[in-house]
Amino acid sequence: MGQLHFFLFPMMAQGHMIPTLDMAKLIASRGVKATIITTPLNESVFSKAIQRNKHLGIEIDIRLIKFPALENDLPEDCERLDLIPTDAHLPNFFKAAAMMQEPLEQLIQECRPDCLVSDMFLPWTTDTAAKFNIPRIVFHGTNYFALCVGDSMRRNKPFKNVSSDSETFVVPNLPHEIKLTRTEVSPFEQSDEESVMSRVLKEVRESDLKSYGVIFNSFYELEPDYVEHYTKVMGRKSWAIGPLSLCNRDVEDKAERGKKSSIDKHECLDWLDSKKPSSIVYVCFGSVANFTVTQMRELALGLEASGLDFIWAVRTDNEDWLPEGFEERTKEKGLIIRGWAPQVLILDHESVGAFVTHCGWNSTLEGISAGVPMVTWPVFAEQFFNEKLVTQVMRTGSGVGSVQWKRSASEGVEKEAIAKAIKRVMVSEEAEGFRNRARAYKEMARQAIEEGGSSYTGLTTLLADISSYDSLSSDWKKNMYGFHALFLYVFCVLI
Ligand code: UDP
Repeated sequence: MGQLHFFLFPMMAQGHMIPTLDMAKLIASRGVKATIITTPLNESVFSKAIQRNKHLGIEIDIRLIKFPALENDLPEDCERLDLIPTDAHLPNFFKAAAMMQEPLEQLIQECRPDCLVSDMFLPWTTDTAAKFNIPRIVFHGTNYFALCVGDSMRRNKPFKNVSSDSETFVVPNLPHEIKLTRTEVSPFEQSDEESVMSRVLKEVRESDLKSYGVIFNSFYELEPDYVEHYTKVMGRKSWAIGPLSLCNRDVEDKAERGKKSSIDKHECLDWLDSKKPSSIVYVCFGSVANFTVTQMRELALGLEASGLDFIWAVRTDNEDWLPEGFEERTKEKGLIIRGWAPQVLILDHESVGAFVTHCGWNSTLEGISAGVPMVTWPVFAEQFFNEKLVTQVMRTGSGVGSVQWKRSASEGVEKEAIAKAIKRVMVSEEAEGFRNRARAYKEMARQAIEEGGSSYTGLTTLLADISSYDSLSSDWKKNMYGFHALFLYVFCVLI
């Protein structure tokens, strides 16, 4: 058969587009044609990297589909989840995304790809793929552990067995004893009433079950018990091919992911070079999670109280959060990046000793791949589950005590708890244990993507599965031609 062709269609959100671009690079580097589907406003997330890779002989194509924002009462440039003015606009965003079905079908008709890798939040793509007799593969952008925890929560509803918000419960039937509190579970997960989000997630689950399988940005050695659980207990087909961010090997690729960095990469590296190994705390909360002014202030004071050096990526536009005199007092110790940080470049630097993270899966896995212990501060989505993987299973991080799942903004964490968690992983008696475990995972991550490693083999298996899916269907077509020929022969003989 000819060259395989993958269509990759991520949800329009940084945390979904960034790993999809890495996936496209990885697939294209194995001689597969990779075409990314996105909307005009999001083209810039991909275009520079696509150009850079072209020079290296890795060809990635991009095709654009208009996003019907205005038709769905959204602001004109609202083509990405972080650009939605309020949560009330979410249903319209999903409606607009579903209106991309027809143009997507036209593109598939024109390009005839062998497979459609599409985001969990585009559940209608399962039907699209079925129309063209190609497999749809789902990309959730999260890990096995989170999907296993989510599945058990839905089946067993363990949060119903506790009498208060702060009482912990164990998530049943999992390989480890995973403890959560009710406040760490999203309201739509707990409520029996239907909401927009619960409807979306139901559609996602149903289309998941009808799809051919799931790609994970994870690696077997990171969560072997949960890969087995997902495969054997939940009965799902999957391929672990991560950490995807490790395909970025040069400075340029590490420095510019998603958006242009707000700091010059050389200035950033010079600052990092001036510090001792494992001495800095890096703070960044991804592209969507919000923090109240009070929480930002607590964080500033917590960082100061830890006495450690830090780099802090701050996304807010106003400066109300800055405690008086903070920047002056910490000017020798801290670097504040206002805007977008070159995260992977920073994490990979040897002077970084801890990562204060909201536990978005990309950030978490980038921290794991860099061998950096984490200070966990989950806010919403599946971030509380990711935190438990880090703190309760891998034991490479310590929580700041964020226990309130909240879509709008984190709250309730105090400076003392922040300083304590930072010091625990950086300078306490336990710090060496955290560091050693984190470094062992880094080593496993790097081995997983090398030739013969588990993720390398995972991708080989995926490509073989898609090739044979194609030949199965062409066998079927051949049989149909054979059947038609026989029918014609018998027909001719009879008349
Ligand atoms: N990121 C970055 N610089 C920033 C903020 C985020 O490069 O200042 C990248 C980060 O490396 C990760 C992605 O944006 O790849 C965020 O994804 P994640 O799943 O961690 O969080 P989300 O933004 O989806 O909540």
